[in-house]
Amino acid sequence: MAQGSMAPGIQSGRLSSDDLAENFADLHAPFAPHEAAVAADRCYFCYDAPCIAACPTAIDIPLFIRQIQTDQPHSAAKTIFDQNILGGMCARVCPTETLCEEACVREAAEGKPVEIGRLQRFATDTLMTQDVHPFERAALTGKRVAVVGAGPAGLACAHRLAMHGHDAVIFEARENPGGLNEYGIAAYKTVGGFAEAEVDWLLKIGGITIETSRALGADLTLDALSADYDAVFLSIGLGGVNALRAEGEDKSGVSDAVDFIADLRQASDLSTLPVGRNVVVIGGGMTAVDAAVQSKLLGAENVTIAYRRGRDAMSASRYEQDLAASKGVKLMFNVQPVAVHGNGAAVEVELEYTSTSDGALTGTGETVRLAADQVFKAIGQTLDGAPGGLTLEGGKIAVDGAGRTSLAGIWAGGDCASGGDDLTVTAVAEGRDAAEDIHSTLMKG
Ligand SMILES: Cc1cc2nc3c(=O)[nH]c(=O)nc-3n(C[C@H](O)[C@H](O)[C@H](O)COP(=O)(O)OP(=O)(O)OC[C@H]3O[C@@H](n4cnc5c(N)ncnc54)[C@H](O)[C@@H]3O)c2cc1C
Ligand code: SF4
Repeated sequence: MAQGSMAPGIQSGRLSSDDLAENFADLHAPFAPHEAAVAADRCYFCYDAPCIAACPTAIDIPLFIRQIQTDQPHSAAKTIFDQNILGGMCARVCPTETLCEEACVREAAEGKPVEIGRLQRFATDTLMTQDVHPFERAALTGKRVAVVGAGPAGLACAHRLAMHGHDAVIFEARENPGGLNEYGIAAYKTVGGFAEAEVDWLLKIGGITIETSRALGADLTLDALSADYDAVFLSIGLGGVNALRAEGEDKSGVSDAVDFIADLRQASDLSTLPVGRNVVVIGGGMTAVDAAVQSKLLGAENVTIAYRRGRDAMSASRYEQDLAASKGVKLMFNVQPVAVHGNGAAVEVELEYTSTSDGALTGTGETVRLAADQVFKAIGQTLDGAPGGLTLEGGKIAVDGAGRTSLAGIWAGGDCASGGDDLTVTAVAEGRDAAEDIHSTLMKG
């Protein structure tokens, strides 16, 4: 009987615990102090720095790099947290190659940017590992705000409200807070229980209560929250998943990539997590890459990402695509699923080649079959369970620039709200900015 990565079907224990520990180690080793000093020295401390403009939370990057360079990592961390209280997580998960580091003048000049993400991690880790919380609350206002969803947007909003002296109660449907930081981000980007530790650290500001296993729509209504609190912030993310619309989608072995990743993130022993021998991931974003790479790291023999358009249209960055390729994931472009074959359980995926003309995608009729005992759908998340009465826009809760929804007293931000680009850092920025608007509204009233 074949063992390990060659075992047929969906099996656990494809790799030894040692191999798994090695595979799921930190994607980028943290900087040692002398490495951080060398990296900081490369910064030109630009006036009107383009890296700041490219950061959704507008961190003063040259300032914090200067603070590292002058051996003040605590001050550097404070500079980061002033703008982005989840700066520790963002240092690990931001696609810096398409944000600050892409904008860095040294990237344009030499093709090698200042390593802003790793420097940010150096600063934030230095302060967080000493268990220091750099903020204090303003005088208490007596105002109470309900925050629905304990992901990056909700946490950032609650923290900023607490800083302004308001009390925030976060209602979270899941057992643990953190949102996709806890249940979605690839395991090798946030090792050592960092997501949980970051929430504990953030709560040290005081004034924030998290009630887990409390879901809006189940035991909570928007009307009741509006009546009981001075304001409500909705940050419920995107809980639904698009359908594949391929014949045989209901066969066993076909599942949502996000659920697989959530199971992986919550597994205490990765050797117990089953994965296919031949895995096909349908999609072209970060979720597709994360599901594919982590399947490979769990010991799947063949892993393919099948994407319906060309490489340049993939929302996963070139860096993420290269990461997948470097782990042995095959990328197929211009193919769309038409059927999953198998007698009850998936055995093969049939893909049709596509062509694009004036942006419109059409199937060519030519198909190819890939062996697939496990098929992951990573074709985008959708808003699930938004309370009635709110105006929607593009399938999300419509908000203005300050995060105000169509209902008075209700704000929204993060992935569930219109605009934005479904990144952790953007969710943090929106949560923070909505908190500022809630604060000024409450102080006027
Ligand atoms: C697999 C995957 C990998 C990703 N990787 C990256 C990455 O590497 N880098 C990056 O920048 N971005 C990444 N993203 C995107 C990023 O995780 C999200 O943009 C970000 O988490 C959005 O934050 P949020 O607070 O809006 O929503 P979420 O993080 O989704 O949090 C929403 C919270 O609301 C809760 N909730 C939902 N419904 C209810 C309800 N009815 N009542 C109460 N609570 C509710 C949920 O349980 C959840 O805790 C990834 C996303 C996925 C899916
Ligand atoms: S653009 Fe690059 S060199 Fe200029 S301040 Fe930002 S990190 Fe430094």
